[in-house]
Amino acid sequence: MQEEIYCQGCGVSIQTSDPDSLGYTPKSSLDRETVLCKRCFRLKHYNEIQDVSMTDDDYLKMVSTIRDTDALVVHVIDIFDVSGSLIKSLPRIVGNNPILLVGNKMDLLPKSTNHRKLKQWLRSSAKEAGYKVKDVALISSVKGHGMEELTELMEIYRYNKDVYIVGTTNVGKSTFINRLIKQSVGESDVITTSYFPGTTLGFIEIPLDGEASLIDTPGIVNKEQIAHYISDHDLKIVTPNKEIKPRIYQLNDQQTLYFGGLARLDFIKGNKTSFVCYFSNQLSIHRTKLEKADALYDNHLGELLSPPNEETLNHLPKLTKSTFRITGERTDIVFPGLGWVSVDGDITVEAHSPKGVHVSLRKSLL
Ligand code: GDP
Repeated sequence: MQEEIYCQGCGVSIQTSDPDSLGYTPKSSLDRETVLCKRCFRLKHYNEIQDVSMTDDDYLKMVSTIRDTDALVVHVIDIFDVSGSLIKSLPRIVGNNPILLVGNKMDLLPKSTNHRKLKQWLRSSAKEAGYKVKDVALISSVKGHGMEELTELMEIYRYNKDVYIVGTTNVGKSTFINRLIKQSVGESDVITTSYFPGTTLGFIEIPLDGEASLIDTPGIVNKEQIAHYISDHDLKIVTPNKEIKPRIYQLNDQQTLYFGGLARLDFIKGNKTSFVCYFSNQLSIHRTKLEKADALYDNHLGELLSPPNEETLNHLPKLTKSTFRITGERTDIVFPGLGWVSVDGDITVEAHSPKGVHVSLRKSLL
């Protein structure tokens, strides 16, 4: 039987078969005196954190050790996909430790976004998901916006204790930590501290000062994320990479909007009103009559209605439909991971999204 080898950085069991999973190292590195997993290797030599993902059960087992510690938990979410990035099991994972919620990718929202309102909304969204947060910070880890304010908040809430960084995959956790590392150590090599078998397995510790550390945890996979339902190629198109320009459609009832071929919104009943669409600028929006919408989809999915394209068509789950009656205040119809449509007035709509990705309503964000 082959002897089990452990990473000398984080203690995780080394494997040589799956480069995207925890503990990977190329076979050729096994002869080295110090064996490091790819993640620790990159951190040591390039000062760079890389995300790895795990199954729910493994993740839970591992990160639940946080509740036995006395630390600050920094929970990074993607403000473009809040429902896909809140972690329902977080209270069980972190116990009584305080949570600082960090809304990342602020550069995607229009500059006119009201920060105070957005923070309040994030706080209440977290509450609905079952946890109370100490405070909320808004940042762009790509641009570096809001990092100073966040660093100050971390100092206030951590009281010299360790800081655990948690988040689902793709929220920008690695980009965020890499920025923190640059900020604190500059270009010098980061030395990961030694591991404690059975407790911090797979966690990466980055010393903050003489006593406390910043601890990166693997990204949890949230099945609600659109990334699990579409191809990488299509994901690139639907994920915005710069400020979203809202697109406005004046619609009469019995009209339909297609968002590529990935989602669809039917205006069933109500007076003429404007539908303000917040999606990646690269995602094409197509307007048609409701009576023609099915035929359009059947005949033109993968061409006129794209993404998906002809090759990625087979990846896409069937679209499923939910009906919403919207009354009173301005409301966002949210297609998780894709974007949202902001509407007003007394209307009935039907929203279609890939099976597994649940459309929801919220009080208008902007
Ligand atoms: P992780 O899986 O949570 O570690 O996420 P990554 O750091 O790998 O980032 C996932 C994707 O989000 C990458 O394409 C990043 O470039 C992008 N990203 C990360 N932070 C930001 C941000 O502040 N703004 C924008 N627009 N994109 C970001």
